[in-house]
Amino acid sequence: MKRLATVLIFVWGAVLAFTGCSATKSANKICAVHQVPLQKKKVPIIYGMPMWSNYDRKMMEEAARSFPHSTVQAEGGCMVMKNAPKQVAVWQCTNCLQAKAEWVKQHPRPEKETF
Ligand SMILES: [Zn+2]
Repeated sequence: MKRLATVLIFVWGAVLAFTGCSATKSANKICAVHQVPLQKKKVPIIYGMPMWSNYDRKMMEEAARSFPHSTVQAEGGCMVMKNAPKQVAVWQCTNCLQAKAEWVKQHPRPEKETF
């Protein structure tokens, strides 16, 4: 099982290295889910160590399947340099943004988060 996980991490790393982050690069600039052109938008970069709740993880899993181009902010990592950029360009799909909003409406964030 550990070996499978290692292989999957390697494959995922190779995919990212080859294609780049799906939020910032898109080879054909068409949403694979909705088949509509992507739009390049600047979004804020959030720095710091994220604490993903179970709700966040559930949303990310659904995002990968149903709204992959719904990025509205980017992670900048834990280190904040003096002249760190505040924004980055990402490829967004209006249908993904709508699908994410609908998912959030149907799955409201719980008042008490679990991690
Ligand atoms: Zn889409």
